[in-house]
Amino acid sequence: MREDLLRGGGLLFTDSNVFALYRTQIEKYLGGVPVYVMQAGEAHKNEQTLFALLRAMSENGLRRNSTLIALGGGVVGDIGGLAASLYMRGISCVQVPTTLLAQTDSSVGGKTAIDFCGVKNLVGAFKQPERVLADPVFFETLPKREIRCGLGEIVKHGALCSAIFEKLWENRDRLFDLGFLGEIVPMNIAFKASIVRQDPYERSLRASLNLGHTTAHAIELSSSLSHGECVLLGLILEGKIAERRLGRDGEYGKLLDELCLRALGSMPKFELSEETALCALHDKKNRAEGKVRLTLSRSLGTFEFLELPFGEYVKELKEVGSC
Ligand code: ADP
Ligand code: ZN
Repeated sequence: MREDLLRGGGLLFTDSNVFALYRTQIEKYLGGVPVYVMQAGEAHKNEQTLFALLRAMSENGLRRNSTLIALGGGVVGDIGGLAASLYMRGISCVQVPTTLLAQTDSSVGGKTAIDFCGVKNLVGAFKQPERVLADPVFFETLPKREIRCGLGEIVKHGALCSAIFEKLWENRDRLFDLGFLGEIVPMNIAFKASIVRQDPYERSLRASLNLGHTTAHAIELSSSLSHGECVLLGLILEGKIAERRLGRDGEYGKLLDELCLRALGSMPKFELSEETALCALHDKKNRAEGKVRLTLSRSLGTFEFLELPFGEYVKELKEVGSC
């Protein structure tokens, strides 16, 4: 595998936390391969890190047929993928996602980016990795909050895919169990990959993956909650909007809410104000002029879009937020 990966030379890109945790294994399996380590954290998902990585790739003599290995969570995957797409107009990238979120979501689908001018993921490219190597062994060192973060996307996939939903419901008492996660991750990768394959550039079907996310992004900007926690909250709140506006299937709604709450542990404190809602209006995925576009699910495995004038969205949010 090592020879196969690095036939044309390569570089391993990772972050300071992952490097500290997995240094011995990196040396054992990839000894001799140059390594570039970034400071861990979303605050470093910027142009400085991107260009420092590109410089390291150049200084280590990477060529057109070289491979960049991105070992880490979503931040490493995003910057690594973007660097691989830019270097010599594109070299191979192997993604080795080490968080639950990255394994089930960000490493699948080829979206790469850095944050720029204060906007999340403003500069990026679509770059499909050569391979994604997802190993549940990495979850052994993941803090519980990071597991919760990944559960947000897994529960979202459950709403769109009945096989995942059933698996989640059957295992609702062991959502944080590493054995269970090892079983559900491949189902999530297969599900997301099938959507991305059908609609790689998010023209229609891929937008279903935005379920819960319009409100999640809005809350995320005004709170200290993680993305996954906000997605779980977004699924609950937008689910209530689906109930009010679309007459969502009641039994399905009850089970979905229960899964979200079990993943959250307890209902976190969050604020819903007009300012929060404004973030949803300005979300870059919101293409409806002056309106907020929500992806809602009326029944298990289905989705549809609902565009609400801003004032109505604010009213809905306030009402469902106080339920
Ligand atoms: P994501 O977007 O996938 O949550 P991040 O890249 O923001 O990923 O990673 C979240 C945090 O978890 C970072 O501090 C990162 O260094 C750390 N991390 C990544 N993988 C692991 C792991 N397997 N064990 C422990 N910590 C990890
Ligand atoms: Zn998400």
